[in-house]
Amino acid sequence: MLSPPPTAWNEGLRVFERGWLSSNNVLLHGEPDEGAVLVDASHTLHAAQTVAMMHAALGRETLVRVVNTHLHSDHCGGNAALQRAFGCGIHIPPGLFASAREWDAGALSHATTGQTCERFEPEGVIAPGDVLQVGRRRWQALAAPGHDPHSIMLFDEQAGVLISADALWQNGFGVVFPELDGEPGFAEVGAVLDLIDELAPRQVIPGHGAPFSDVAEALARARRRLAGFHADPQRHLQHGARVLMKYHLMEARSQPWPELREWLSTTPLMATVWQRLGRPEGDLANWGEGVLRSLVDSGALAWREGVVHDA
Ligand SMILES: [Zn+2]
Repeated sequence: MLSPPPTAWNEGLRVFERGWLSSNNVLLHGEPDEGAVLVDASHTLHAAQTVAMMHAALGRETLVRVVNTHLHSDHCGGNAALQRAFGCGIHIPPGLFASAREWDAGALSHATTGQTCERFEPEGVIAPGDVLQVGRRRWQALAAPGHDPHSIMLFDEQAGVLISADALWQNGFGVVFPELDGEPGFAEVGAVLDLIDELAPRQVIPGHGAPFSDVAEALARARRRLAGFHADPQRHLQHGARVLMKYHLMEARSQPWPELREWLSTTPLMATVWQRLGRPEGDLANWGEGVLRSLVDSGALAWREGVVHDA
């Protein structure tokens, strides 16, 4: 017998809004005996908290699967801990399945971005076109390249709910990582924004920040931001460098400047961005100090007595 469609956008699901170091989690409750599915697992450093939150939210329900929208460390870092705690399978987009199986940290971006992510064992894939049926909801997986070439989104057409990952936030979208590496990505971001416009979701659950329903306004903001980056790709490179450094400090919490310099010189993507900007200052560390100063000036980081702190 077919069940009636959900009536409220959040019926049968629960959104855990986390911070910026950790992606949000979306817990999709199943029918009795079906088990629940969790979309995205947050960061490794918050894994114990993620497991505790899921234990509390699940009660007697089992967690049968974790699905990752993409494999950035803030979305899949909790996979290993969830796997240990619940014995759940982990399904990821197909593009990096082989790399994740072998744990090729370079291909997975955790090494090139200088980020931390605990190894996990993927069990299967969720590919664009697949339908994830959980409880009364049918979520269609959609390709969402741009921020990450392999990312997917999940769309429940009947309820008009989109899990957008980092393709659309209420105020912007995630750094367009391929562009930092000299690969095209802006056109893909634009095409995904067009796709979201066509889907016309009534509610968006982003990878970071609160769920929102003013989707047209968010799309307009994202398109303006994209046009600005497109017109001035150097601005996007500088933005990317600031995001990478801020994210690293969110992981490290605080770090003496010499150690941060060491991180700069051992993080390939920072060197790539510096080179693509035309090697400003003629020295990676001097340029990095300028990136740090701009983050301190904006209040994103603090720098006291030679130690840099997340602010
Ligand atoms: Zn991401």
